[in-house]
Amino acid sequence: MSTPMTNIQADFPIPFAGDVLDFAETKREPEELQAMLQKTSARAILFFKGQIGIGDGGRPHRVHPSDLVGHDLMAPGPIFLGLEGDRPIFAFSVGKPEEFMPIENYVSLRGIGGNLKPSDLALAGRAKSLFAWHFTDQHCVACGNKTVARGGGIKQLCTGCGAESFPRVNPVAIMLVTDGDRVLLGRGAGWPDGAMSALAGFISAGESIEEAAQREVLEEAGIKTKNPRYVFSQPWPFPAQLMMGIMLEAVNTDITIDPKELEDARWFTREEVLAVFEKRGDAFMRLPRQTIAHQLLRHWLAETA
Ligand SMILES: [Zn+2]
Repeated sequence: MSTPMTNIQADFPIPFAGDVLDFAETKREPEELQAMLQKTSARAILFFKGQIGIGDGGRPHRVHPSDLVGHDLMAPGPIFLGLEGDRPIFAFSVGKPEEFMPIENYVSLRGIGGNLKPSDLALAGRAKSLFAWHFTDQHCVACGNKTVARGGGIKQLCTGCGAESFPRVNPVAIMLVTDGDRVLLGRGAGWPDGAMSALAGFISAGESIEEAAQREVLEEAGIKTKNPRYVFSQPWPFPAQLMMGIMLEAVNTDITIDPKELEDARWFTREEVLAVFEKRGDAFMRLPRQTIAHQLLRHWLAETA
């Protein structure tokens, strides 16, 4: 077995987790939020259609909330992300992005994710998921009336029946299936050349994480598995998944792909995976560091070193 890389361990906190702000759960009444918007120290980060405004130094651009007065703002208005010490931090989704910075300064978190400070990435991901929720869910699921944001954007209140609703998070199991020193990776149709990843699927009603993981691997690749083991999870803001990393051991090894789900699935040896991560092999394209699939593979390499 080859010498392990010095930094092969998974990143902790996992990318998109590790928000360092005080969530300030008990300071979210309308008058408290109003006072915080007016504090001299308050700052706001800017979004346009789910893309974040990046300023000098490659960090999210920050303005004072009062700089937003008189500008077009998208629903739900200011989202209160929490307190950085005493400093309230908000996020706004703007309607006319060029009023604040050139349009090319608004970038996708998929593209820039690996370059942001972990705490900035976590904060931006949370804001992005909340904006997406307020954009798509504007009516009460119980009675159909319009909802309004409350608590600085962390919940909604129905204007008809008064029901409260909370941001939807969609649970997804993502699976690293091993067979001794081999690991199963697959690719969907239309993926970039060489891209391979861990299999993944949404968890259904009435399923445990482990059951969903085993069902998905069997459906997609025809592989029966045993000993499912939870490793770590990741909030994934495209738009609001909670990715739950599961490792499983293969019972059979002949792959039968479901062509509706996968274009290809193959076993890769530990040496092939290690070579990809050490940038001296090209058995497949290394996934971006901010993906949980990348982190699961790093975890496996470290665990089997
Ligand atoms: Zn209602």
